[in-house]
Amino acid sequence: MLTKAPRGTKDITPKDSYKWNYLENKFREICALYGYQEMRTPIFEHTELFQRGVGDTTDIVQKEMYSFKDKGDREITLKPEGTAGAVRAFIENKLYADTQPTKMFYITPCFRYERPQAGRQRQFHQFGIEAIGSDSPSMDAEAISLAMQFFRELGLKDLKVSLNSVGCPVCRKEYDKKLREYLDSKSEVLCDMCNERKEKNPMRVIDCKNPQCKEAITDIPYMIDNLCDDCKAHFAELEEYLKEMEIPYEIDKTIVRGLDYYKRTAFEIIAENIGAQSTVCGGGRYDGLVEQLGGPKGTSGIGFALGAERLLLTLEDAGIEIENPQSTDIFIVTIGDEAKKKSFGLLKELRDNHISADKDHLSRSVKAQFKYSDKINAKFTIVIGDDELKNNEASLKNMATSEQHTVKLSELVKELKERL
Ligand SMILES: [Zn+2]
Ligand SMILES: [Zn+2]
Repeated sequence: MLTKAPRGTKDITPKDSYKWNYLENKFREICALYGYQEMRTPIFEHTELFQRGVGDTTDIVQKEMYSFKDKGDREITLKPEGTAGAVRAFIENKLYADTQPTKMFYITPCFRYERPQAGRQRQFHQFGIEAIGSDSPSMDAEAISLAMQFFRELGLKDLKVSLNSVGCPVCRKEYDKKLREYLDSKSEVLCDMCNERKEKNPMRVIDCKNPQCKEAITDIPYMIDNLCDDCKAHFAELEEYLKEMEIPYEIDKTIVRGLDYYKRTAFEIIAENIGAQSTVCGGGRYDGLVEQLGGPKGTSGIGFALGAERLLLTLEDAGIEIENPQSTDIFIVTIGDEAKKKSFGLLKELRDNHISADKDHLSRSVKAQFKYSDKINAKFTIVIGDDELKNNEASLKNMATSEQHTVKLSELVKELKERL
C-alpha cells in the first residue's frame, strides 16, 4: 500500500508534467485575451454548497462525492466540479458590487468517486470559465468563442459546437406540462428510471441511454421548439454572433440540463474525425444559480468546463504531440578537481544570465560526462581542465555540429548569448 497511490489517482511525473504546464499556460493565455482572470477557491467546501449548487438529485451528489466530517464535526466535501465554489466565492467576496460582468477562469483538481477508466480518474482536473452578471447572448458567444480558440490553438481541427436552448422558467413550465403528458402516454414502455425522472425532471428522459426508451421517444417534444419569445430572441441573437465569427455550430435538441437554474443556452464542443468523436467541453447559462446560493436576485451567469485528462487523450488520438520545452543549453564537462570547483562559479554566472546550465553530480568519467551531455540534449558543452583554467579559457563545443573552439572565460556569456 505504501508505494501505491489510491485507486483513481495518477501521478503526473516529470515525464508528462510539461504537457500539463502547456495546457494550463495556453488556457491562461487565451483567457487573458478575453479579459478573464483567475479565481482560486478551496479544494473542499461545505457539503451543503454542492447539494444546493450541483443538485441533490444528480448522480454527482447522490453517489460520487468525497464527503467526510472534519475534526470539528463539519460536513465537508472535496469539490466535484468547479462552478459551485467559484459562484460561492463570487457571492462571499461581493464581486457583484464591482463593475460587471465578472469574468473568471479556474484550473482545479476535482474529486468524484467513480469507476476509473481511460480519461476518467477519481482525482481529475477541470479547466473552466464563469462569466457572471450579464444575461446578454454576447456573453454566451464569447464563452463559446474562447473555448473554440483554446482548442484550435492546441491544434484540434474539425471542431463543432452543438447548441441548444433549455428555455427559462416561463416557457419551461408550459413545456414540462406538455412533456409529462407525452411521457404519461409512454409510461408502459419507459424504464423505471425514466418513469421516476418524469415526475422530478422530465427533460432528463431525453438523456436516457436505454435503447428501448430511445426508440419510444422519437417524437418527443423538444424544449427548443417550445421557447417563449424572449428565449427565442436570445437564441437568435446568439446565432447571429456565432455566424459573424464564422464559428460552425449545429443545433442539437437533445442536449438537456438536469437542474432548474440552468437557463437558455446549453452547448457542447465536439472534436470530430479522430476515430470516435469526443466531447471536449460542456457549458451553458445558469441564471438561477447565484440566487440559489444566496447571492443577489436576478444575477445571470454562463460558463463552461472541460476535463484535462480527457483533453489530453483527445489530443493524443488526434496525433497532436506536445513538445517538451525543457532543454538544457549548457553542460559543463570538468577534468580534475580544480576545474570541478571552478565550474560552480561558471554555473552560477550562466544561470544568473538565464542560460540554463548543468554539470555532473555523480563523479562521472570525462567520457561519461560527454555522454550525459548528449542525453540531456545540451546545445553546447563547455570543457574545462587544468590547462584551460591556467589561461582563463574554456573549450566550447556545439553539440549539433561538433564544431569546437577555445573561448576566454570572460567572453563566454557574451558569446553564448549571441549563439543561443
Ligand atoms: Zn423562455
Ligand atoms: Zn429510460
